[in-house]
Amino acid sequence: MLAFPLLTCRPLAEVALGAAAAAQRPNVLFIMTDDHAAQSISSYGSKVNHTPNMDRIAKEGMRMDRVFATNSICTPSRATILTGKYSHLNGVPVFNRFDGSQPTVAKMLQQAGYYTAMIGKWHLGSDPTGFDYWNILPGQGVYNNPTFYDKDGSTVYQGYVTDIITDITIEVLKNRPKDKPFFMMSHHKAPHREWIPDEKHRKQFEGKHIPEPPTLRDDYSGRTDAIREQQQSVFRDLTRQDLKLTPPPELTGAAARKWLMEKPTEVEIEVDGVKKRLTGKELEDFKYQRYMQDYLACIQSVDDNIGRLLDWLDANGLRENTVVIYTSDQGFFLGEHGMYDKRFMYEESLRMPFLVRWPAGIKPGSASDAIGINCDFAPTFLDLAGLPTPADMQGRSFLPLWKGGKPRNWRRAMYYRYYHDPGDHNTRAHYGIRTETHKLIYFWKKDQWECYDLVADPLEMHNLYNDPGSQKIVAALKQELYRLKKEVKDDDQFADSQPQTSSYVQAPPPKKQ
Ligand code: CA
Repeated sequence: MLAFPLLTCRPLAEVALGAAAAAQRPNVLFIMTDDHAAQSISSYGSKVNHTPNMDRIAKEGMRMDRVFATNSICTPSRATILTGKYSHLNGVPVFNRFDGSQPTVAKMLQQAGYYTAMIGKWHLGSDPTGFDYWNILPGQGVYNNPTFYDKDGSTVYQGYVTDIITDITIEVLKNRPKDKPFFMMSHHKAPHREWIPDEKHRKQFEGKHIPEPPTLRDDYSGRTDAIREQQQSVFRDLTRQDLKLTPPPELTGAAARKWLMEKPTEVEIEVDGVKKRLTGKELEDFKYQRYMQDYLACIQSVDDNIGRLLDWLDANGLRENTVVIYTSDQGFFLGEHGMYDKRFMYEESLRMPFLVRWPAGIKPGSASDAIGINCDFAPTFLDLAGLPTPADMQGRSFLPLWKGGKPRNWRRAMYYRYYHDPGDHNTRAHYGIRTETHKLIYFWKKDQWECYDLVADPLEMHNLYNDPGSQKIVAALKQELYRLKKEVKDDDQFADSQPQTSSYVQAPPPKKQ
């Protein structure tokens, strides 16, 4: 007699998966900020701030140390996260409009019975598809009293954008259909330029001296023209608006706006009622401190709101089987190599923070150094739902890593490509690879190369490309670069992409009646 007659009809794996999937597919709460660098999260060893609630995710779950953006800029990273594909296959190499008719992970989860929701910064130029509920900022959105819009029109919310995104997220979670697992994308505007903190945190870093990164005054010796030509320098390129300076009273309207957009070479500030003119190194110090004080204050608001969400999940019986992820669409320069912004393939910009808590599936306090990419997010969400990765997705599920292992055939190198040249910051287009120990970057429009030994030179200050003793490793890296480029099907389809600003500024639809 057969003890388990059902097993003779269907393969064991399918039965096990089907039962598990039906009974207890985990919820996913995906919290993503815009431009948050891992080096400003204390669980990643921050020297500039303390983030207790982000750390709580890491302490109760896993910190992933090597998750990288495949194209370090907002809109392309978002398109990659949704599709599991590189920019050249999802059609979004620069700020161009995302074609929402293509397959996305949201659509697949929705079809598989998940309740899907998207709240906050979308920034893809077209309206969301595959979500049961969506309510988003038009384009970049604003920090104070932001407009949001959904399928029925727009609404102005009173308050600070980071709080409001969390309020809406909690409200939607409260009202969700309880018979379905949920997939919730809660996307913050913060800490995107121009770094406007809320009142609660504005003074938190005021008057405090933020430690400088060791490469703040990098002189770029030995590097290519690309790093010298960039216009994302803390000392040279921050505007008066970035520095929160106030226009003289005689300037109004367009004249005041023009004044704010200029990059000052001297600044007058008032200290204890006395006016002081800053130039030279004093001005440089002022610029770095002001930039960081505002940036970090924006992060504190995000951290508070992550705490609110974790508390809400824990209080509502959703702790055990909800996967909570905290990440950012890419990294950011916090003065490293003298820069702000992202775009370059250097570590601070390439690296995405990635913290994940899932009590039912991840050991608390764990860490992974496996090389992950943003193409992996969609396959991971599908795997959580018991769904296979479609053949045309280019990532693989993180689940084996979360279970504490690292498959023997896990990737040893990742491929990167940035197109938005010259863009707002005159950043040169480039592609390259990052392995576990090295990085090779090719600025193809300049035909110039950089190569770094990340073990001996983690700050990426010594370009080995022309070093006679490094020619063997350079040749090996080049071979691997071209192999990976081919493997990910990059045949230079978008090599001539022109920067676009169409989704940067987006008028919201008419107000709701
Ligand atoms: Ca971004």
